[in-house]
Amino acid sequence: MTVLICGSGIGGLCLGLSLQQLKIPFQIFEASGSIKPLGVGINLQPNAVRELYALGIKDDLKRIGIQTEEFGLFSKKGLEIWTEPRGLKAGYNVPQFSVHRGQLQKLLYDTLIKRMKRHTVNLGMKAIGFENLISSIQIQCVNTNSKKLETFDGDVLVACDGINSSIRKQLFPDEGDPLWNGAILWRGLTIASPFRTNASMVMIGHDTQRFVSYPISEKDHDGNAKINWIAELKFNPEKPWSKSDWSKKVDKSKFIDRFSDWSFDWINPLNLITETSSIYEYPMVDRAPLQKWTFKRTTLLGDAAHPTYPVGSNGASQAIIDARKLAFYLKVNGTNEEALLNYEKEMLPLTTKITFANRSSGPDALLQVVEDRCEGSFKNIREIISQNELEAHSEKYKSVAGLNIEKLNNSDDILSSLN
Ligand SMILES: Cc1cc2nc3c(=O)[nH]c(=O)nc-3n(C[C@H](O)[C@H](O)[C@H](O)COP(=O)(O)OP(=O)(O)OC[C@H]3O[C@@H](n4cnc5c(N)ncnc54)[C@H](O)[C@@H]3O)c2cc1C
Repeated sequence: MTVLICGSGIGGLCLGLSLQQLKIPFQIFEASGSIKPLGVGINLQPNAVRELYALGIKDDLKRIGIQTEEFGLFSKKGLEIWTEPRGLKAGYNVPQFSVHRGQLQKLLYDTLIKRMKRHTVNLGMKAIGFENLISSIQIQCVNTNSKKLETFDGDVLVACDGINSSIRKQLFPDEGDPLWNGAILWRGLTIASPFRTNASMVMIGHDTQRFVSYPISEKDHDGNAKINWIAELKFNPEKPWSKSDWSKKVDKSKFIDRFSDWSFDWINPLNLITETSSIYEYPMVDRAPLQKWTFKRTTLLGDAAHPTYPVGSNGASQAIIDARKLAFYLKVNGTNEEALLNYEKEMLPLTTKITFANRSSGPDALLQVVEDRCEGSFKNIREIISQNELEAHSEKYKSVAGLNIEKLNNSDDILSSLN
C-alpha cells in the first residue's frame, strides 16, 4: 500500500511527513540530486503553521524564520494606505511566519530523513510519466546519474512536482506553458535594517510597478536582518518572456532604473536592490484552474494542482494544507481512488477561489484603487478611500484563503481527529 510522491518540494515533503505520522508507507521521487536551499522568502499563513506545528517542528520554525506581525499597503510615494496586524498580533492562536523557502524545504527534508527508518526519498529521479496497471500505478523516472529509466509501483501517485509538473502534462497534454500576465518579479535577499515593527510585510506601488518586502530573520547584533524583497514591473503580456524558472539569475541593470526615485524615510527600495548580489527573475504566471485533479490512481497537489500568482502569501501554505488533507483521506479511506476524490472534492473549489482572487482582487488590489484615485499622493487616506472599503477588502480575502480568525482558532490541526 505505497503512496508514490513525485517531487520533494514543500508539498511533497509535508505529505511524506504526514504519512509517516500516520504510518502509511510512501516513496518520494525528486528530480534534483540534492536538496539545496533554493529560493528566497515566503510566507506561511497561520492555517499552515498550525499543521507544521502538528508535524512537530515548532521550535525549528522559530529558529529559521520570523513571526510576521504586520501587513501594510503603501502608495508609490511611500504613504500608508492600510496596515493590519498579522499572526499572533491579529489574534490568531498560531503565528504567521516569514521564512527562507530553501531553509524550510531543507528543514522538512532533514526532519523526514531523521524520522524514517527506511530509505524514502529518492533524489536524482526525474519523473517522466506514469502508467496505470491492473491493480496498481507505476511512476517512470530517469535516474539523473545513470540516465537509465527506472520504474516503481504503488497504490496511488501524487504529483507534487510544481508548476511545470510532468504528471500534469501527461494528464493534460494540450495545456501548454503557464499563463503570463505581463508582470516580471525580481527577487532578492540582502542584509539591512528592518522597518516598522521589525517584522512587517509591506507592498508599495500599484499594478504596473510594485515593491514588496519583509524580513525573514530576527535582528542581528548590528540591528540588521535578512530582508527579502520583490521588485515588480508590468509589460505587454503579448511579448514573449522566458519560461518560468525559480532559479534564473539576472543583473539588476534590467530594472533598477525604474526604482531610482524609490527611497522613503522608512524603507529604501533602491538601496535594498543596489546592495543585493544575487537577483532572481520570475514571470508572474499561473494556470487556469482545472475541473478535476484525480484520474484513477493519480492526483495533483500544491503548485502541480493549482499554481497561483505569488501575491497573497498562499503558495506554500496551500501546498501544506493540501498535503494534510490528502493524508487525512488516505488514512480514512485507504490508499485508493476514493481518498483522492474526497481530497479533490474538498480542496479543488477552495484553491480555485484563491487562484481567481489572486488574479483580480488579491490583498494588493487596493493599491491600484488608490493610484487611480490620486496617483499615490494624499494628505488623508480617508479622503481617498473609506475605512469600510479597506476593511471589507481585507476581510473578503481572508475568508477566501481560509484565514478567518475565529474559525481557525476554534479548530484543531487536520489530523487531530484521527488520534
Ligand atoms: C527552486 C525553487 C525555488 C522557489 N522559490 C520561490 C520563492 O522564492 N518564492 C516563492 O513564493 N515561491 C518559490 N517557489 C515556489 C514555492 O515553493 C511553491 O509555490 C510552493 O511552496 C508550493 O510547493 P510545491 O511543493 O507544490 O512545489 P515546489 O516547491 O515548486 O516543489 C516542486 C518539487 O518538485 C520537483 N520536481 C519538479 N519536476 C520534477 C520531476 N519531473 N520529477 C521529480 N521531481 C520534480 C522540484 O525539484 C521541487 O523540489 C520555488 C520553487 C522552487 C522549485
